[in-house]
Amino acid sequence: MFKLLEKLIIGIMLVGFIICSTNVPVSASTTRYEDLPVEWCEMESKFPNNDNIVTSTPIETITPTNDLFVMQDSKATVRYLNLRVMLGKTYLEDYSDANKEASDRVSYVDYPFINTWSIGFTESFTNLTNMPIDRCKLSNTTLCTDAACGKGCNNDTDNDVHHKNSIKNLNKVRKDIKDDNYDLFITLVSTPMCGIWGSDHLTNTLGVSYINDNYTFLSNSSSISTNVRVRIMQHEICHMFGCNDGLCTKDSSCIMNGGYDGISLYTSNVWCSSCKKDFNPNAH
Ligand SMILES: [Zn+2]
Ligand SMILES: [Zn+2]
Ligand SMILES: [Zn+2]
Repeated sequence: MFKLLEKLIIGIMLVGFIICSTNVPVSASTTRYEDLPVEWCEMESKFPNNDNIVTSTPIETITPTNDLFVMQDSKATVRYLNLRVMLGKTYLEDYSDANKEASDRVSYVDYPFINTWSIGFTESFTNLTNMPIDRCKLSNTTLCTDAACGKGCNNDTDNDVHHKNSIKNLNKVRKDIKDDNYDLFITLVSTPMCGIWGSDHLTNTLGVSYINDNYTFLSNSSSISTNVRVRIMQHEICHMFGCNDGLCTKDSSCIMNGGYDGISLYTSNVWCSSCKKDFNPNAH
């Protein structure tokens, strides 16, 4: 079972919204990031009933919104990676026009990557169904608890416990969805998630990725401000290029510490000096 034991860092993004403070607008957020090691071994066992996650073509074709920021003359030098954007059931339930929301939001994601690293993303979209998270009986806005979700939270993919567990869902997507046509896979869901890191059961997890991996699983729910939805995607994509949580240069704003959550999406450089060193543009 441990033959493929890998020690990887999983990035976790936790956002707590300030909604009761007197003079802070609802859209303001404080972001807390933690650097949490997780030991992960290749899951050979199956999800109950051998059910695999299923991809399906959206009923209406999702036409990517033009990446607004691609300068005509920079196109020649920018290296474009194929980004597969996969929309989960909770995401499709959350937005009246989920196709447009996904297309609009993703169009902002590559602005700093193009300007700082000459890396752009060519996005295409598909729907994902039959994920563990789709089976959760709790509403899309409810945080899971051990009491509500069955036995103690469990990261493994071979059982039906804790459907909102982000690690479980990420690993399930990594196992079931393989396609050489795409460089990076990003799954969007619309519910806060959880996970076990060490002995802690953490809730309100907004995204998870393994460092330098090409899959990420994250929440982009409508309760999150439009700006932060983009920042969550950028943050998780940075993990896919070698950046970590908790290693930012002291007192510096960074995409890895939430420092750009309230800052214009037209900002070219969103990395502190430490994370800039960690970023490996050739990771993919
Ligand atoms: Zn992170
Ligand atoms: Zn849980
Ligand atoms: Zn940083």
